[in-house]
Amino acid sequence: MSTRYDAVVVGSGPNGLTAAVLLARQGLRVRVLEAEPDAGGGLRTRPLTLPGYQHDLCSAIHPTAVLSPVFGALGLEVEWAPFSTSIGHPIDERRSVVSHRSLDAAADALGRDGAAYRRLVAPFVTCDLFEDVLAPPLRVPRHPLLFARFGLTGLRSARSLAQRFATPEARALIAGCAAHSILPLEAAGTAAMALVFLASTHLVDWPCVRGGSGALAAALVNALLRAGGEIELGRRVTSLDELPPHRVALFDTSPRALSAIAGHALPARTHRAFQRYRYGPGVFKVDFALEAPIPWRHEGLAEASTVHVGGTFEEVADSERAMWAGPTDREHTERPFLIVCQQSHQDSTRAPPGRHTGYAYCHVPAGSTADHLPAVMAQLERHAPGFSSRVLATRVSGPAALEAENANLIGGAIAGGATTLAQVFARPTLRLDPYRTPNPRIFLCSASTPPGGGVHGMCGYWAARSALRALGVKGDLGAPRRAALR
Ligand SMILES: Cc1cc2nc3c(=O)[nH]c(=O)nc-3n(C[C@H](O)[C@H](O)[C@H](O)COP(=O)(O)OP(=O)(O)OC[C@H]3O[C@@H](n4cnc5c(N)ncnc54)[C@H](O)[C@@H]3O)c2cc1C
Repeated sequence: MSTRYDAVVVGSGPNGLTAAVLLARQGLRVRVLEAEPDAGGGLRTRPLTLPGYQHDLCSAIHPTAVLSPVFGALGLEVEWAPFSTSIGHPIDERRSVVSHRSLDAAADALGRDGAAYRRLVAPFVTCDLFEDVLAPPLRVPRHPLLFARFGLTGLRSARSLAQRFATPEARALIAGCAAHSILPLEAAGTAAMALVFLASTHLVDWPCVRGGSGALAAALVNALLRAGGEIELGRRVTSLDELPPHRVALFDTSPRALSAIAGHALPARTHRAFQRYRYGPGVFKVDFALEAPIPWRHEGLAEASTVHVGGTFEEVADSERAMWAGPTDREHTERPFLIVCQQSHQDSTRAPPGRHTGYAYCHVPAGSTADHLPAVMAQLERHAPGFSSRVLATRVSGPAALEAENANLIGGAIAGGATTLAQVFARPTLRLDPYRTPNPRIFLCSASTPPGGGVHGMCGYWAARSALRALGVKGDLGAPRRAALR
């Protein structure tokens, strides 16, 4: 007779694995089913270019992981490789700006904008903010005054936030951070992304994972196995009938996939809502095997965990607006905004001795099939003259390739769904408990639930709490408050 599980988790991304570990630690029988041959979803590392080079398939830099209350509480065995500078941003031939742990130094470097920068960011440089930002939005915040203050500024657009500043440096910093929202910088709520990212640079040194992001997935899998849970790889679920006997199922999938899998087990209105859910633009990613580090024109950028390559606020805003408008706008392909990471600078396991890796992606219209490599190379050459001559090999992943390696990346979208203001609240539908579905045995735990994209495991944490309540298990996962790294 086959085993009856308390919980089956479909998908082994950081959210699925977090939910599975938490439920297994309550003494429940838990089995994870993963479609791909390796666990981790957005947390995978592979030799994509030349022998001896290790590249992160998706996530690379982990401020949200080290600030995640649940990862802190899980006590994961993972070695962070922090950078002394979290963000670098070349603006033009004369100017660049960086952000690192010292708020005073960052403010001083912004000259006449320093005081305004300090006033804006200082109140949010606290782990308290992340406890509320990483929680469902329709819940009473733990720190109501702080969160209300954050909301008042965060609900605005990045453009209106940037208008408070005069220097190209301060404006560029805001643009680069806000652009992680993958929205036009004129969209309401994009100021929140800028605030969260800027505050995080003064709280933690944005790290990569020593050995690759896959090592974080391995730590989660080890925690699961130690708690008595099971994982099966290479097992794509297409229907509820394929699941082993279980009491509840948690889906670390897109709402669209859950709709297809669940069939008649969900009401028609839920299928309609899941079909309406918007995934947003995709990304075009390039991995590089390099002969030497990226030759940035400006000092200080080589030490940065993440380099925002896109020039001035206006240039970044133009690129993001064109990407959102769709494939007809050619300007986007000429000067795309790039997010660049250089993991080998702090993690020598990524490349042979003396060699380096590079990682760059730009936002593109969903499902774009255009070749953005020439534009990516031109942007890198512009800010790092001589870059091309250091490239030994490249590996390009457009939206279709990304989706082929992880079904959650619909049209190449990386955040589990567009982060429009509406979808911050209705993620994927407007419910007090967005992890539950109308079927009491079916839960969603992916980044398509609050708090959304990024590696933090908190969608899994809140979904596990919801599932525990449905199982009638008295155990409480509590409210973990200790961040993994201060
Ligand atoms: C290119 C890129 C760069 C990124 N960079 C960063 C970064 O630097 N920092 C950061 O914090 N975040 C980053 N992210 C975002 C981050 O990776 C995701 O937000 C995060 O991984 C979401 O976790 P998840 O558990 O919800 O889903 P995922 O990590 O996407 O995992 C979902 C898993 O479910 C599996 N699955 C799906 N459908 C089925 C099925 N039917 N049956 C079985 N298994 C299934 C998939 O194979 C996958 O393993 C990046 C993402 C991408 C794509």
